[in-house]
Amino acid sequence: MALLERVVARMPDPVGREQAALLEAELAAMHGVAHAIAVSSGTAALHTALVACDIGEGDEVLLPALAVIMTVAAVVQAGARPVFVDAGPDGEPLDLADAASKITHRTRALLPIHLGGRSGDLGAVAELAASAGLDLIEDACQAHGSRYRGRLLGTIGRAGCFSLKDGKLISSGEGGYLLTDDPDLAARAAAFQTHWQISAAGQPALSRLGTNYRLAEPLAALARVSLAGFDKRLARRRHAANRLVDLVGDVPGLAPIPVAAGEQPNGYSALWRILLPRPRRLCRHLAEVGVINSVGTFDLRAAHLHPACRPLHPALCPHAAHAVDSLLAVPVPDDDARLAQIATLIKSEVSAW
Ligand SMILES: *Cc1c(COP(=O)(O)O)cnc(C)c1O
Repeated sequence: MALLERVVARMPDPVGREQAALLEAELAAMHGVAHAIAVSSGTAALHTALVACDIGEGDEVLLPALAVIMTVAAVVQAGARPVFVDAGPDGEPLDLADAASKITHRTRALLPIHLGGRSGDLGAVAELAASAGLDLIEDACQAHGSRYRGRLLGTIGRAGCFSLKDGKLISSGEGGYLLTDDPDLAARAAAFQTHWQISAAGQPALSRLGTNYRLAEPLAALARVSLAGFDKRLARRRHAANRLVDLVGDVPGLAPIPVAAGEQPNGYSALWRILLPRPRRLCRHLAEVGVINSVGTFDLRAAHLHPACRPLHPALCPHAAHAVDSLLAVPVPDDDARLAQIATLIKSEVSAW
């Protein structure tokens, strides 16, 4: 922890941003993009990306109903209206026909969420965004290192947003960053995350209000350490995810969700479709016996069914509701013994359901 000691020894340094700047350079190089902007969380990265795309009051943002609540919150924080898009009939994250039917003169962006490190057919989503003149903003908070047709997720849209929260594949406990090749967008993002105290793309310093989404220097130093170990961690995680699915094997009523054409997932979660009665209850039961999973542990729901989204008067998204209810998404543990234990639990509890 010599690095942390050095960072702390540099304080007080109220204008210093040594570690954050180094982290940004390393993240940009690793992803092969022109700009990375470090911020305080994944939610902050999403909010910042939207503001930096000049999306706000009066605008609509299309996002999957197959969402986490943080993405929805970021759109609302930016002042825009989230419009939920149903999943496909087979649980694909975004039904393109439904997305197209919900585009209005107010729609500004399409915001896919790569849950479990999976993108689905992102090429078709990107084509829809391009043909409708919408910004593509990726929620890649679970997708560090995942690829689509060889390209890293989070580098395909106009901006890609990542979290550094504990449990993500690169982590400093809390934190986040966004990626872009657009220098003006990057400048606006950099200004917004520090109260617009620096000028950006024709908007002088303090010409508008921003916020404090700065990533703390000690956290930036921790993120750099995590980033240095990323390639190894990614390889291990991919291997472990496949191993978990193999160890669970053939269980009646449980079907691994196949990798879509072009996808190269990072192994963030192992994913199954539950084909049994009362699947949400089963997920809760699995959580109770020690298998952490999205529905059972974190009460993942389709966004239009979330109590907090009621004031948005969302349209029904029946495929998304079914996709969430029948989803078993298990974050893959690093530890081999834990992996075997979880596999045994899933196998026995699902067989007995
Ligand atoms: C973790 C996560 C977020 C939010 O990130 P925080 O750092 O917790 O704010 C947003 N979207 C997805 C898909 C996530 O997994």
